[in-house]
Amino acid sequence: MAEEILENLFRISIPLLGSPLGNLNSYLIKGEEKFLLIDTGWNEKSCLNHVVSELKKLNVDLKRMDIFITHVHADHAGLASALASQTSKVYFNREEAPIVNSTPSRRKKRQKTIYNIYLSNGFPDKELKKSFKNHPAIKYGLWDQMDFFIVEEGHSIDIGSYSFTCIKTPGHSPGHTCLYEPNKKILISGDHILFDITPNITFWPELPDSLKKYLESLEKVYALDVKLVLPGHRNLMNDHRKRITELKAHHEERMKEIISALKTGEKTVFEIAPFVRWDIGYKSWQEFPLTQKWFAFGETLAHLKYLEEMGVVKEEQKLGQILFFLT
Ligand SMILES: [Zn+2]
Repeated sequence: MAEEILENLFRISIPLLGSPLGNLNSYLIKGEEKFLLIDTGWNEKSCLNHVVSELKKLNVDLKRMDIFITHVHADHAGLASALASQTSKVYFNREEAPIVNSTPSRRKKRQKTIYNIYLSNGFPDKELKKSFKNHPAIKYGLWDQMDFFIVEEGHSIDIGSYSFTCIKTPGHSPGHTCLYEPNKKILISGDHILFDITPNITFWPELPDSLKKYLESLEKVYALDVKLVLPGHRNLMNDHRKRITELKAHHEERMKEIISALKTGEKTVFEIAPFVRWDIGYKSWQEFPLTQKWFAFGETLAHLKYLEEMGVVKEEQKLGQILFFLT
């Protein structure tokens, strides 16, 4: 059941079956003439049925509903095409729109690029092929051609008594965008700031310096006057500055773990990842499900790229594999 968090602003909790994330927080805002849905759930039947029935209970007319997508990840963007009517505006960012509006051949090329990067950084070929097949981004993503309404930094979206400003927060994804309401002091944070879990910062071909960008985006949001954060997963919270400080410390810690892994000699990303403390409830790296290995690998690579830019580590190619070492 949707809950009314503030006047005319509802949270719809959409179950993501089989995902450690649990649920997606989708937000619905009622205006006089229109509705605005922020993020959608996976592109699969049970999510669609759930969100449609919740919208019905809230008396939402889909023909008068616009959609805002915080970022391209399948749990946020997946159902945008299924839920949009011909008259809906679908707000999305410039950096990620081409990932959706691609051609099969360009999509294949992008996947090949990622595949090659993962393979050369030590991800075992067989497991890599399997991860691609089962990856939620591929299974439940938004892959229909869409006529997006592109939003830029500072763009405003008015709905009912809410007047949101788009705040670009790249890092978790290349064009991640939050919505800030300066009068009500609320921030719809997508996956930029989460409270009970840490947002995954991974490698993107479109954003090779993702961790650097993420830390900059944290600083940007720190400066905002916020009373309530509405995140994409788990619980709502008040103190965004405290959480930002914790998130920064978390990445510092992760970098220390990576540096310490390299003290015993050069390693591939895949060899370094098990040295990092992953808070997902498995005793050993061997027990990690493949999808979790994939996320851990991407996160490790993003931290190594950051350390490389800082001059702390370097990489070299040996027998077709990339090895990282301390400078
Ligand atoms: Zn995400």
